[in-house]
Amino acid sequence: MNCHEIRVLADAFVDCELKGAHKERVGSHITQCPACRMWIDMVQRARDTVRTKVVKRPAPEGLEAKIRDVVDRARGGPERG
Ligand SMILES: [Zn+2]
Repeated sequence: MNCHEIRVLADAFVDCELKGAHKERVGSHITQCPACRMWIDMVQRARDTVRTKVVKRPAPEGLEAKIRDVVDRARGGPERG
């Protein structure tokens, strides 16, 4: 596997989508190739940035109660004594 292939597979590797032989090959390549290790590191950081930017916003007030209400209705109304 050459550096070009590693870079093509970097996204999948970082996303843990690579399986078996591919994953092992990328893994063993980056232990020997500082350039590709840096590349993977860069892809990883880019991923982390995306993830932290898509932070879950707190649910608007009352939303949880609304959802419960909808769920209760779907079940045929809140149970009564
Ligand atoms: Zn390389």
